[in-house]
Amino acid sequence: MNTVVLKYGGSSVSSVEKMKALAQRILQRRDAGLDVVVVVSAMGKTTNHLLELAHEASSSPSKREIDLLLSTGEQVSISLFSMILNDMGYPAIGLTGTQAGIKTKGLHTRNTIEDIDVSRIQKHLSEGKIVLVAGFQGVNALGDITTLGRGGSDTTAVALASKLACNAEIYTDVQGIYGVDPRLYPNANKLDFISFEEMKEMAFLGAKVMEPRSIEIAHRFNTAVYVGSAHEDVPGTWIKESDASMEEKSISGLSVSENVMMVNVRKLPAQAKHMANLFIRLAENDINVDMITQSQHPNGMMDVAFTTSLEELDMVQSVLKTITDEVPQCEWDIDQDCVKVSVVGIGMRTQTGVAAKLFALLSDADIGFKLVTTSEISISYTLSKKDKLRAVDVIAEHFHL
Ligand code: ADP
Ligand code: ASP
Ligand code: MG
Repeated sequence: MNTVVLKYGGSSVSSVEKMKALAQRILQRRDAGLDVVVVVSAMGKTTNHLLELAHEASSSPSKREIDLLLSTGEQVSISLFSMILNDMGYPAIGLTGTQAGIKTKGLHTRNTIEDIDVSRIQKHLSEGKIVLVAGFQGVNALGDITTLGRGGSDTTAVALASKLACNAEIYTDVQGIYGVDPRLYPNANKLDFISFEEMKEMAFLGAKVMEPRSIEIAHRFNTAVYVGSAHEDVPGTWIKESDASMEEKSISGLSVSENVMMVNVRKLPAQAKHMANLFIRLAENDINVDMITQSQHPNGMMDVAFTTSLEELDMVQSVLKTITDEVPQCEWDIDQDCVKVSVVGIGMRTQTGVAAKLFALLSDADIGFKLVTTSEISISYTLSKKDKLRAVDVIAEHFHL
């Protein structure tokens, strides 16, 4: 029998009532003759609530224990879902990440999937059962429960589909992938297709509709991913290999990330060893740096600016304190009034003038920016928060996103 992996996100399974409605949809697929694996997230805002509890319990909760705690959210969903399906007369079984054979590696709270032993899932499918897998979790070589980072149920679903050589269908609270988050720009257009590369870039740059690593996996294994509405019967979006028609548009999408701060370091001696020292310290503390600029002054000093995520605030501050201990004249500040607006399109590889047009659009709207960076298929601007919506509007309108 053909297999399909369906994934339902937190907002789609926020109540037992919603789960019961979704159960009907799952059974339609089963009745159509498919072997069905369902990946589920924790109900509603459960993961956030569990995290709040962890921070009530401790000012610096251990990441191992956070993983143990957060993994319970998805376990609630799979067990309830199995009960519902069983009551409807269909054999179903819930499996935690560990039981589903999801082996992970890396640091607690941000593990990656190393491999999946799908034999138990396959055994249950061959017994005619619907298999419900807890998203976002796995087990490491020590036998400890791990999680895959926020939004990680997408990754569970796509990794499972890749291993089972079938499609992944991601059902959520919007009707598909839009050129821009429809909550930010209500006129956004839904896309029929988007390439793996563009979706990956949009996700890494802040479009939270798909977890970025899930698209990385889909691309690597050429696993087609469908994104659609959990509750409405309307066509969604296929994420797949690019074709020539996708390159006609210079820009396919726009992403916004609010999780960004800009660090300005001034009066460092303009020598490579000082630059290296700063970034080695940041790397040693696992701080992921995004945009970097450096400007040199005639007096032999340089200024360095970089962006990173807001979660790194404490860690960045402590690194910068060690730098000023060594180079007392060095000054720094952290600008949290930042938002990153990025445009993405594989058409940019062949089409020129996109950056020029964007600069003109922002300038006409009198929107200043703090940093600009580019990749082969994207351009990102760090702006002040007050300019976010206007920047989204002018860019989305001009490029018909
Ligand atoms: P789930 O709980 O199902 O995993 P998420 O909240 O993680 O859902 O992702 C869905 C949300 O992603 C939507 O509600 C939407 O606001 C947001 N989003 C961001 N960018 C986009 C985009 N380009 N297209 C569609 N949705 C987007
Ligand atoms: N429950 C987890 C989270 O809220 C994983 C997920 O929903 O994908 O991040
Ligand atoms: Mg999600």
